[in-house]
Amino acid sequence: MLKLTGFIIGSIIGSFLGVCIHRIPRGESPVAPRSHCPKCGAQLGAAELIPIIGYVFIWGRCRHCRERVSVLYPILEVGCGLLSARVLGAEGFTLSAVNSLILISLAVVAAGIDFQHRIIPDIVTLPWMAVGLVIAAFSGGIQGVFSRALGIVGCGGLVFLIAIISRGGMGGGDVKFMALIGSFLGVPGGLTSFVIACVIGAIVGVILIVSGIKSRKDEIPFGPFISLGTIMVCVFGERLIPMVFPWLRF
Ligand SMILES: [Zn+2]
Repeated sequence: MLKLTGFIIGSIIGSFLGVCIHRIPRGESPVAPRSHCPKCGAQLGAAELIPIIGYVFIWGRCRHCRERVSVLYPILEVGCGLLSARVLGAEGFTLSAVNSLILISLAVVAAGIDFQHRIIPDIVTLPWMAVGLVIAAFSGGIQGVFSRALGIVGCGGLVFLIAIISRGGMGGGDVKFMALIGSFLGVPGGLTSFVIACVIGAIVGVILIVSGIKSRKDEIPFGPFISLGTIMVCVFGERLIPMVFPWLRF
């Protein structure tokens, strides 16, 4: 029952995140006006706004101009539904689950925008660090806030150094994104996310270059890999963090 509720909540969140990914880089508000067809401007009816079902209902096309609706929307809705079912199913409606769901949502938006536009807008990162600290205050008091503040400085600082040394490999958006992750996961969780991102990023990079899809000079956005690592830590953190940092005890 908790899992089903989690799936429904997650798919609704996923539907909203799809709108955020589309609108934020265009400078539009994600909440108003109501969702509409980007081609003909027709507003979506009530049934079409339902996650997943809405897409099936219109057979993936705008009812007015027959323009194709990206299949990424229902995939995102299903994906977020599954993640949310997993998190809420394992933890219930706890502060820790809320912490995970907010960070997963931000990671999804950052990945989507970075993949399409090669930027991670500040609105997705900076203000949310305060939210991470507030949640820490409720769950762990002063000590919680301190360990997350350390996460902001430690994770952001590490990527800042890498950005300077690599000169262009990583940008300011990645630095702020990692600082954000530190504010939600602290140093161990944040660094574990980053290590996973580097490993998967390197593997995917090699595959893309060897298969000839990308050349060595092409820049591959790193944000989506950071997001992937973060989501994995949010879902499997208890097992992943000790695997990456076996000497850490906390
Ligand atoms: Zn249309």
